[in-house]
Amino acid sequence: MSLPVIGSSTAADAAPRPAGKRHLLDCSLEQLQQWLVDQGQPKFRAKQIFGWVYEKRQPDFQQMSDLPKGLRDLLEQHFDVFLASEAAVQTSRDGTDKLLVRLADGGEVECVLLRDGNRRSICVSSQVGCAMGCVFCASGLDGVDRNLTRGEIVEQMLRLQARLGEGERLSHIVMMGMGEPLANLQNVLGALDAAKSQEGLGISPRRITISTVGLPPAIDRLAANGVPYNLAVSLHAPNEALRDQLVPVNRKIGIDAVLDAADRYFDASGRRLTFEYVLLGDVNDRPEHARQLVQRLRKRTAMLNVIPYNPVAGLSYQTPTKSAIQEFRQILESGGVNVKFRQRKGDEIDAACGQLRRNRKPDSESSPTG
Ligand code: SF4
Repeated sequence: MSLPVIGSSTAADAAPRPAGKRHLLDCSLEQLQQWLVDQGQPKFRAKQIFGWVYEKRQPDFQQMSDLPKGLRDLLEQHFDVFLASEAAVQTSRDGTDKLLVRLADGGEVECVLLRDGNRRSICVSSQVGCAMGCVFCASGLDGVDRNLTRGEIVEQMLRLQARLGEGERLSHIVMMGMGEPLANLQNVLGALDAAKSQEGLGISPRRITISTVGLPPAIDRLAANGVPYNLAVSLHAPNEALRDQLVPVNRKIGIDAVLDAADRYFDASGRRLTFEYVLLGDVNDRPEHARQLVQRLRKRTAMLNVIPYNPVAGLSYQTPTKSAIQEFRQILESGGVNVKFRQRKGDEIDAACGQLRRNRKPDSESSPTG
């Protein structure tokens, strides 16, 4: 499982093909309507089925009580709503739930539910592994295995939604789990169609964020898609040499091309850009780095999210010191950059990107739920 190359058509393009039934979550409403018509069933049943799956959180066709028994049986014969299983579940005291989802072919991805005030945000994976190779990230350590299908991405959303209690409602989606979403753009956009549509999860695109290391042609395709999702670009370094080192894919792209593509996305979508910056102790947390960031960002309509690093087993990077964080922040703020230092929710269960799968021990407190 090692494929640190972008644009390669290797294992990453291979979708799993479990024998037998189709994954219902792979289907758009129109595709399900067409299937029903092909089966001699009325088209309006598709909206009822979507209502059960997306709104009433009911994955069992036999429980869809307003469908005729014959149709329930037919659906059961041809489709599964869920194809994966939950290999592990962990909950932290701050209300963060993480799932390790085992896919039909045995691959594993992680996804997270974060509770913050009234906000219920989920962070979802787009690939098994990641080819971008960011040196501080556990997800990229073994390269990428394959892209997730649309249905596999939606299934993570529904499994996390199912964990919400009475009165809790999913409010935000972030494509920031394992993988580079823009390297799997077609399936990510399909899944987000289900997330934003009224027959799906009904989440406004303004509450959906796609996070990327910055792949300019894919950013342009996303802009051409015309739906104003938020774009979060993971910068992690203010100069070419450091970014080449921390985000190796940068060697083929360069910071200027990434920022130019982000500017084009802003022009096309009108959505304020977000830049992400993982602050690594004694690596990219020096005053000169903050000053270089000011130069790059002060004239842009953008927010900079700074995330003090979470230590990952097997990697030697350190959390920055409090004084380094303070000085970094002061330089950015006095330089006119909109900056937020993000709270590290879910630390106690390794819920930050890439740590779930890697740090899992067979005898940990994880509880398999099938
Ligand atoms: S930080 Fe994101 S893009 Fe970079 S290796 Fe990890 S998952 Fe991939």
